[in-house]
Amino acid sequence: SKRLIATPTRTAEIMNQYDIKMKKSLGQNFLVEPSILDKMIQTSDITKNTTVIEIGPGIGALTEFLALSAKEVIAFEIDPRFVKILSNTLSEYENVKVVHEDILKVNFNDSEFDYLKDAEDLIVVANLPYYITTPIIMHLLDTDLPFNRLAMMMQKEVAERMTAEVGTKAYNSLTIAIQNKMEATISFIVPKSVFIPKPNVDSAVLMLRRREKALVEVENPREFEKFIQMAFTQRRKTIWNNVRNYYQNGEADQTKLAEGFEQAEIDPKRRAETLTVYEFEELFNKLSEI
Ligand code: SAM
Repeated sequence: SKRLIATPTRTAEIMNQYDIKMKKSLGQNFLVEPSILDKMIQTSDITKNTTVIEIGPGIGALTEFLALSAKEVIAFEIDPRFVKILSNTLSEYENVKVVHEDILKVNFNDSEFDYLKDAEDLIVVANLPYYITTPIIMHLLDTDLPFNRLAMMMQKEVAERMTAEVGTKAYNSLTIAIQNKMEATISFIVPKSVFIPKPNVDSAVLMLRRREKALVEVENPREFEKFIQMAFTQRRKTIWNNVRNYYQNGEADQTKLAEGFEQAEIDPKRRAETLTVYEFEELFNKLSEI
């Protein structure tokens, strides 16, 4: 039977053979439990019609499972040591292309990626480097890539933030930024024990499915994003107090601000974590008019 990469012995073997150590600074924790990878493939609805963009293949633990179940895999790896190793560990899979590149520097809007627009079913899959989870997701959501879902392993706490409901402790500006475009659910929780080396925290596989239409579309999304971040600056303060700071340098005086709140029908004594994205939209638009 096949000797999978994603086992403790094979992973140790590969690391010894190439005499390399993992770099904490690049978030290198490798999966060594095939059943978790199986589950990741199953819950991500990957079939032979699926084109996968993978981020950070490492020595190929997840990539191998993707190669076996998907149509094709394009994997972006920042660490040149692994790019070399992957050409050996994955040599038998003809449907994998490894690209030596920092995912944050890849411009998916470039014409070299036009072919991805014709993919029947495009998905992003990754066991993410945890220290840049949010920048990576934001980078992908900012592109015109026509993927309809992302399945990503990340720190459990971050997954809980991205799936949080309004009025809860975990709900913040990141929750809103993600959920405005994507429907977020946790597929399953992953224990620390299935990685080498073992991370300090538990993980979760998060599924993000693109909504047909964003919940809210404002004229100036960047300003809207900044506005929401500002509203959450000091969680324990009222939205009034946080928003007042935002307009500090502007013309709007307190009376006008209060008018904006009234028109938006938002009680200024509420805290940001109690506002839905629709309420933020209403308040933002009314305050922009004054
Ligand atoms: N996919 C492998 C697995 O599941 O065992 C490795 C996952 S490990 C958590 C994260 C991988 O992402 C590492 O191989 C690391 O070198 C790579 N990586 C880190 N930063 C990256 C970046 N900016 N662009 C592409 N890959 C990156």
